[in-house]
Amino acid sequence: MASSDSTPDDDPIDERVDDPRDEPAPISPLERALHAARALVLADLAAREVVAADVVSMMEESIVQRRWWVEQWPEGVEYVAGLVAQDVQDALLEAYGRWPLCPVCASGDPHALEVEPELGPDPHWVCHQAGVKVAAVGNLGSL
Ligand SMILES: [Zn+2]
Repeated sequence: MASSDSTPDDDPIDERVDDPRDEPAPISPLERALHAARALVLADLAAREVVAADVVSMMEESIVQRRWWVEQWPEGVEYVAGLVAQDVQDALLEAYGRWPLCPVCASGDPHALEVEPELGPDPHWVCHQAGVKVAAVGNLGSL
């Protein structure tokens, strides 16, 4: 009977050390912040029923630009949600119109809320005409 054990059991395949590049990269604070910003702005877009067909691509464009921006200036990571909200607001103004419309002022010309702080953490939508903080970015749907 021919032996089938002639192959030494030192197949290099078995010795292979797991390549660390195969591991999923840990999620960086930047990616977490971008993910959160995307979720917040999407929630506000859904809450205000924005119908512009390419609104998601507008937001993704902003995410790409802000990723680059935070890579240059890591301290700005907390500001990403407010900045993405403003980027989307600006893009929508050209493609769709004012967004988000103020839900506070019952009379007068329709006007958009603005993000405050423009460059800071914990961004909110505010109405400058009424001088009130309307909702946190991401919370327009809870009004
Ligand atoms: Zn207002």
